[in-house]
Amino acid sequence: MNSRRDFLQKIGLSALAIPILHTNNLLPSGRLDPRHLSKPLDGPMLRVAIMGLGGYGGRVAEAMLNCKRAKLTGLISGTPAKVKAWQEKYGIPAKNCYTYQTFDQVKDNPDIDAVYITTPNALHHDQVIRVAKAGKQVICEKPMALNALQGQEMVDACQKAGVKLLVGYRMHFEPKTLEIVRMRTSGELGKIRFFQGLSGFTIGDPTQWRLNKELAGGGSMMDIGIYSVNGARYMVGEDPIWVTAQETKTDPVKFKEGVDETIQFQLGFPGGAVASCLSTYNMNNLDRFFLDAEKGFAELQPATGYGPIKGRTNEGELTQPHVTHQTVQMDEMAQILLDGKTPIIPVDGNEAVKDLKVLDAVYEACRTGSKQTLNL
Ligand code: NAD
Repeated sequence: MNSRRDFLQKIGLSALAIPILHTNNLLPSGRLDPRHLSKPLDGPMLRVAIMGLGGYGGRVAEAMLNCKRAKLTGLISGTPAKVKAWQEKYGIPAKNCYTYQTFDQVKDNPDIDAVYITTPNALHHDQVIRVAKAGKQVICEKPMALNALQGQEMVDACQKAGVKLLVGYRMHFEPKTLEIVRMRTSGELGKIRFFQGLSGFTIGDPTQWRLNKELAGGGSMMDIGIYSVNGARYMVGEDPIWVTAQETKTDPVKFKEGVDETIQFQLGFPGGAVASCLSTYNMNNLDRFFLDAEKGFAELQPATGYGPIKGRTNEGELTQPHVTHQTVQMDEMAQILLDGKTPIIPVDGNEAVKDLKVLDAVYEACRTGSKQTLNL
């Protein structure tokens, strides 16, 4: 079984996330309104059921205790003992608890507005589609699916059912990240030239689902490299038009066929910027974004961990407050789902499909050794 360190490496370090800005949080000057994180949030609560009572689901549940607009009202799990423990901890009645066989019945439950899916990657596709068919709003963890084709099917199913699909890109709401995005969009940084994204950690327990191709859909790229893919897009502010990538594997026993250990990839953007990124399950101390531009630079390190995020720009240290990412994410998502708020960096299914198209192209570039053209 995993040591405590392995557990922390699995639960803590891989839990890196991604950010969003809302126009209604900006002052007329374009700066982020400092009251954004403390002003009272009015309106109804988003009532959320969590599906998959594992490490990350637990973190989201805890964080929601401090939400002003979201609360946990339902549970979906295959493990009765976990359901019982969570029911006691969060005061969830038995009528709001479901199994993986029965959760379609959430359709008839007026206590649940949305289902947040925090199961292993390979399960997201079918589970999102079933929740959509039950007529509930869907929040799904990253990676949203195993590939772009699956992702598009999920987007289409939610559209057909008339429900929204959001993805747990928690960094899209993180204050220091948002300040860099503001500097870029306001023109303070000038033309963007280069992005570097380093995303990695040494993964522990070789038996965990993250190292099982069937459940994870791949290796480090699916889990942690996706932060550099998504980060490149929101830091540069464009969608890439080409990808090159190279894979290296030093431990083929731990990282089996189809489970990538380390991939380096490069992205080209329409405005001429380039990105150089590293995704790995076999090196620690890798959680860094660096943006270089005509008139300045921005650096985040750590860039996507649970925080505190640290960063600086050519103007000095970033001093925006540390927030619990999942609390802010859920309050913001409640406003997106209940009030129709528009995030500055999108967090919807279409945003996730773009990342999945880049992931598909990274794997194809590794397989073929050739440059892949992208049309996001
Ligand atoms: P975990 O292993 O801790 O939890 C997964 C849960 O799914 C467990 O409760 C497990 O019992 C359940 N499950 C249901 N069917 C299963 C099956 N067939 N096989 C294995 N488990 C099954 O994993 P986690 O770290 O909570 O990750 C869950 C999802 O959340 C993943 O998609 C992961 O990428 C994502 N995640 C996101 C962040 C973030 O910061 N946004 C952080 C960690 C994990």
